[in-house]
Amino acid sequence: MSVRAALAVSFCLASSVLPGSLLHAQAPQTVFGYSDFGPESKLEEKFLAVPGAKEAGEELKELTSAPHLAATPEDHKIAEYIAAKFRAAGLETQIVPYRVLLNQPKAVRVEAYDPAGRLLMSGPTREHVAGDPSQDDPRIVMPFSGSSGSGDVTAEVVYANYGRPEDFNELAAQHIDLRGKIVICRYGQNFRGVKVFLAEQHGAAGVLIYSDPHDDGYYKGDPWPIGPWRPETGVQRGSVQYLFEYPGDPETPGVASTLDLPDSARTSPSAAQPHIISIPLSYHDAAPILQALKGPGAPQGWQGALPFRYHLGPGGVRVHLVSEQDYQRRIIWDVIGKIEGAQEPGSLVIVGNHHDAWVYGAVDPSSGTAALLEAVHGIGALDKQGWRPKRTILFCSWDAEEEGLIGSTEWVEQQGKLLDNAVAYFNVDVAVSGPDFSASAVPSLKQFVRDVTRSIPSPLGGTVFQQWRSHSANEEENRSNAPPIEGEETHVGDLGSGSDFTPFLQHAGVPSTDVVSNGPYGVYHSTFDDFAWYTQNADPHFVYLQEMARVLGLEALRMADADVLPYDYAAYAREISSYIEDAKRKAGELGLGSLDFAPAEAAAARFLAAAQQAHAAQSALSGNLARLNAALRGAETALLSESGLPNRPWYRHTIYAPGEFTGYSAVVIPGVSEPIEARNAPLAAQQLTVLTQALDRAAATLNSTR
Ligand SMILES: [Zn+2]
Repeated sequence: MSVRAALAVSFCLASSVLPGSLLHAQAPQTVFGYSDFGPESKLEEKFLAVPGAKEAGEELKELTSAPHLAATPEDHKIAEYIAAKFRAAGLETQIVPYRVLLNQPKAVRVEAYDPAGRLLMSGPTREHVAGDPSQDDPRIVMPFSGSSGSGDVTAEVVYANYGRPEDFNELAAQHIDLRGKIVICRYGQNFRGVKVFLAEQHGAAGVLIYSDPHDDGYYKGDPWPIGPWRPETGVQRGSVQYLFEYPGDPETPGVASTLDLPDSARTSPSAAQPHIISIPLSYHDAAPILQALKGPGAPQGWQGALPFRYHLGPGGVRVHLVSEQDYQRRIIWDVIGKIEGAQEPGSLVIVGNHHDAWVYGAVDPSSGTAALLEAVHGIGALDKQGWRPKRTILFCSWDAEEEGLIGSTEWVEQQGKLLDNAVAYFNVDVAVSGPDFSASAVPSLKQFVRDVTRSIPSPLGGTVFQQWRSHSANEEENRSNAPPIEGEETHVGDLGSGSDFTPFLQHAGVPSTDVVSNGPYGVYHSTFDDFAWYTQNADPHFVYLQEMARVLGLEALRMADADVLPYDYAAYAREISSYIEDAKRKAGELGLGSLDFAPAEAAAARFLAAAQQAHAAQSALSGNLARLNAALRGAETALLSESGLPNRPWYRHTIYAPGEFTGYSAVVIPGVSEPIEARNAPLAAQQLTVLTQALDRAAATLNSTR
């Protein structure tokens, strides 16, 4: 409460110093990648003055006026609204449809009985709190899991904590057999599809995933509508697609699901989808099941915040699940807006956010869409004054992200080699749930993101960069896998998955970033992620929407106009070296000490030397800049492996992938790390060779400028 009260005061203070004086004071003299930053600095100042908090608030209100699940008429209306905004800003705009496999629920039912056959609960209970203005709309989709199987199962129950590999290992150690059982586990710690994947592998017949008040409910703070945390009936919907295998339309890995793609070109979705039922629950509905559960007491760390002792089961309760899913190929709509580059029209700077939502999606994704629209507003204003960027800027509003990054993946698959000329992809999704800025990026763009935020005023005073650095210094939780790096100014995380940067970076090799402004957010993927929640809890004056619009727009401008692409490959090479050292240590610990890391270490050193040479050329801004830029961009593509990761060829990046058992967070040098974890020495050795070759390709690409 005290933090929020302090914020309310600073809004007033901050607004008196915006936009003129502070912006001017922050304009940098020199910027990496520019021979003379003067003209660009003036342009940035003009841009920064345009995105409006009030306008963003109005856009957010419009975007959240109805539930807009992918492929529904309301979703189509949102796509048309965004397209109209793009056109009004002067962008050449297209709505690009795809036909993709999506499930919508016909019936979802959960009933629990005690051993005497007495009914303990019957759900799902409708999401409801006193006073929420949006909760009664008949178009709200019942809680369900995207990609769930259909079926009717009655079985005993076992509690599996967060459904992580170590949780399933603990159950195995306690000799609890999951075959034919219903696994109940809580949200948190990993991607929900991983929970279902592991349960399926252990022979479970169904999965219930519930929101424990310990993780995003009353244990954290006051629930909605008093505070921002999840209320008793709030349910987290979500996809349980096996997107660590591949994302996108499950019937078309690697191929775009265009309207004219014949059905004969579509394959079985079976590798990317669960074969069992998955149903999400509120703790209101989960509590009677957990409370009745017998068996051993839950181990240390498995106890949630419900007011009774948790047990592992089985025994004490049987559950009946019904899931009737209507699977159809449905039409979705991406919106693509373009400002063509004056000097290098084929060279693309891409900014993207999705527009589909589980329900209203005020934070996820509409805060991102409002920020995107205001970035477009700002860049459109420059365009109307006769300015043109050097490179082409694309603004993209993806559909069906929630079901498995589908709109972005299909588009990326359709572009193919054209994306070899995409110099950056700047993503935003859950843009604003509070005041705390943070970012993730490929290492070559980490300094770029920091530099951009140095030029943007924070609603709290100072710059976004200063506020970011001061709050991250106090953060206990480091959301990245990367080890902290000596002398790092402020931490930029690694890109795992869970949003639309995945196809760009991990399939197509486009250098990417992702930005967010975080706060306490307990209504994720529920009905209550609505306009009323947003204005009460996240950003009552929409100043963080304005901030995020400025960040996105400035990322695009600075990248589109740079004389030399401002990648920092030396930082990249140093991070890769540290990943290799970590993997080597881990291999030693797991008894794989005979693996030979020397060739990969030497290749990383050669990549660093090439990167330092390139950095000198970038700083000197002399010679053939077009050739230098081509080499700089090509170095990221060089890190792709043509054959992809072992067992998941869609993922081609040798440095980053979503973890097979985490899903959201990045696993680094995945081809090497995952076989080491699995103690598969021959595969790790083979993948060390693949990594060595990729690093040598990247070094050779950078050296080709000399
Ligand atoms: Zn989202």
